[in-house]
Amino acid sequence: MDAALLKTAPPAAPSQTAGDDARFEAVRRRDRSFDGTFVHAVRTTGVYCRPSCAARPAKRANISFYDSAEAAEAAGFRPCKRCRPEAAPEDERRARPRRA
Ligand SMILES: [Zn+2]
Repeated sequence: MDAALLKTAPPAAPSQTAGDDARFEAVRRRDRSFDGTFVHAVRTTGVYCRPSCAARPAKRANISFYDSAEAAEAAGFRPCKRCRPEAAPEDERRARPRRA
């Protein structure tokens, strides 16, 4: 029996992992170093964002996390117009051909 091992695991919600706590914390701090590693989708608005989005973070209960923009869109969310989560941050930095 592995009952003792199971004790340390959270009860029953597969989507609410310890990783989500770290992710929510990154969203609260608008931590840019997490950009590109996941997106967070807000159920009430139907929009998903990068961790560093300037928009005010929604309530934790209304947020779900996805590993990629594709996954969020597959779940029916639209990309945020402010932070453009569907564009990788690296692309944004590299592709800045501001030559006047
Ligand atoms: Zn956003």
